[in-house]
Amino acid sequence: MNIVLLGPPGSGKGTQSKKIAERYNLAHISTGDLLRDAVANNIDVGIDIKAYLDVGKLVPDEVISKLLQIRLSAEDVRNGYILDGYPRTLAQAYLLESFLRLDVVLLLDADYKYILNRITTRSVCSGCKATLSDSQLINNLCPICGSTTFKRSDDNEQTFSKRFQVYEELTTPLIDFYKTKGILKSVDGNGGVEEIFDKIKVILDGVTK
Ligand code: AMP
Repeated sequence: MNIVLLGPPGSGKGTQSKKIAERYNLAHISTGDLLRDAVANNIDVGIDIKAYLDVGKLVPDEVISKLLQIRLSAEDVRNGYILDGYPRTLAQAYLLESFLRLDVVLLLDADYKYILNRITTRSVCSGCKATLSDSQLINNLCPICGSTTFKRSDDNEQTFSKRFQVYEELTTPLIDFYKTKGILKSVDGNGGVEEIFDKIKVILDGVTK
């Protein structure tokens, strides 16, 4: 099964993708994570990726394609995968169509105010990479594995507003694109993690039957 998870920044795509990947034995491929890993590991891709991330601009397609190509050559994608953060533009959706048959596109929709609050009050674990609400942290440490946590450099109000604007302008056209293909399923992303995951499971269990 191959899935795309669409949704505005902060709608919980990363958290839900991890849970979906685990339950349905799929590889979780987050282009945002691939980019952040490239920055952390000083991988030379010919541009300053961090400069794009910090202002909320989309990284050029050539760079994304290169990182994606490397990731897709790994063993774990054989059983299918969930794409989190890709495609983000119609051009990327056309490119994806040329090499992948998608089973379902999940749209995780959430209100601006709700996700702004979520984004400005969340941290990431440096160990298990979980995204955590600050209220879950124990002395600023991850409640799951005990590692230190940090804030993403683009999780601030200014960058968020740019990321949201980019989403509205460039990514929302994908909603109609996939609706027309008959593979779009919408999920209300305004609730708690488990509540949202329950709704996703109903949809995906229907696809796998
Ligand atoms: P995310 O982790 O999905 O919120 O992505 C963080 C940032 O990575 C975005 O704001 C973009 O700057 C960049 N990014 C992630 N995915 C893509 C993509 N498919 N195309 C271009 N830039 C991307």
